[in-house]
Amino acid sequence: MDDLITRIRVLEKESEALEPSEEQRNDLLGQVREYTNNFINSLPSAESYSAEKAKKEAFLIDGKKMSLEKVLEVFSEEVASKGIRAASGGHLGYIPGGGIYTSALADYLAAVTNEYSGISFASPGAVAMEHELLNWMKGLFGFPESAVGNLTSGGSIANMIALTAARDRHGIKGAKIEKSVVYLSPQLHHCNLKALRIIGLEDVIIRHLELDEESKIIAADLSEKINEDKRSGYEPFLVIASAGTTDTGAIDPLKEIGEICQKNELWFHIDAAYGGFFILTEECKQLFGGISLADSLAVDPHKGLFLPYGLGSVLVKNREAVLHSHHYTANYMQDAIDGTGGEDPADVSPELTKHFRALRLWLPLQLHGIEPFKICLEEKLLLTRYFRHKIKELGFELGPEPDLTVTYFWWPVPDGDEDGFNRRLLKEIHKDGTVFLSSTNIKGRFVIRLAVLSFRTKLETIDKTLEMLIRLKNKVAAEMNFE
Ligand SMILES: *Cc1c(COP(=O)(O)O)cnc(C)c1O
Repeated sequence: MDDLITRIRVLEKESEALEPSEEQRNDLLGQVREYTNNFINSLPSAESYSAEKAKKEAFLIDGKKMSLEKVLEVFSEEVASKGIRAASGGHLGYIPGGGIYTSALADYLAAVTNEYSGISFASPGAVAMEHELLNWMKGLFGFPESAVGNLTSGGSIANMIALTAARDRHGIKGAKIEKSVVYLSPQLHHCNLKALRIIGLEDVIIRHLELDEESKIIAADLSEKINEDKRSGYEPFLVIASAGTTDTGAIDPLKEIGEICQKNELWFHIDAAYGGFFILTEECKQLFGGISLADSLAVDPHKGLFLPYGLGSVLVKNREAVLHSHHYTANYMQDAIDGTGGEDPADVSPELTKHFRALRLWLPLQLHGIEPFKICLEEKLLLTRYFRHKIKELGFELGPEPDLTVTYFWWPVPDGDEDGFNRRLLKEIHKDGTVFLSSTNIKGRFVIRLAVLSFRTKLETIDKTLEMLIRLKNKVAAEMNFE
């Protein structure tokens, strides 16, 4: 026995390395604080994109110790300086996120305290906080208090939870799958199609709906297709619309679609991952009319609320449908069920143990209040308008006036290789790196996209973008021998 205790004491001494002293903690935190301060201070002047690849050997794990100083050096050189600088206001590609500082503080608190937020028995506070945030969102989107929801890692899982509920509500399984029909826009985010495959609905019939000039679903086409399918003996069960598409930021006619769904008893899901929080702005509020008709909704705080990556959310009206797939009990969980805290997050999601995500949204909302978030979204809307105005003056062609903050444009090359020119222009933009833009195809044309959603995107960023575009446009024109 004495021998055993002696050995334990030896191991205890050595494993203490995992619990730095207060002095060491202050030193470590000081180093990280200095690094992050320099990082944030450097953002306005730093490039937003570097095509350079990371050196894999820099990440080698050989089991030996590395100082924090060295770790930060590797981080700075191999992580923070390569690819898209997502924390920069110059990230204007895809759908930018954010990375507000106060959310990082919440993540720090969450990690140090390590609250177990999957089950209310384990952390009634963490779960109550998650419920309160979901209730706040239910209020925003006109969902009843009886709806259930979940804070997810992002929009992909949020959409998947919603589509699983739709599947279970309509009992889409076995031989029924091949006769069941899903209606969606060709502009729908691909994660919804991925989710359908993951949840065993690869073989459902998918109907792509007609879009209008602004890339929005034409509701009359939905009606017609449903009627046609019913006549042919198929079983329509689900419509997926977008409140803010990735390509053009379009909001589908939610009210009309919702009414069609109600009339035909179809599940109505809205992917509002990107656009949802624009409902906070006076300017956009009315575009979301009908959103409360949805059976389920996905919206990403790591987009429209400028949080660092890692927070999506889903709301679903039909509680039973969600619990069908996600609620589970097991012997080793028997102490953890007390049923007093509302749904445990684990009953509404494929996840059991999860990061304490609520805090990274709750803390910033408390510290700042809601107003700066609203104002920042309004600023993004105006910056998009400013960009469109200016880029038109420069001679670029533009897509239609967007609902939100994604717009597309291209340099016109009459009687020439227009796509080739714009492809080359985008390559130059990526090589330059001043700001980051991405591209897409709209009606067969290669176009460049600008997405304004970083809280750090300012008037100066847009001016810098315009200056870069005209400079690189001239360069490509000279190289391709025209103008
Ligand atoms: C970003 C996005 C998604 C995917 O969400 P993740 O958070 O990246 O998983 C889904 N739909 C839309 C409209 C999006 O913009």
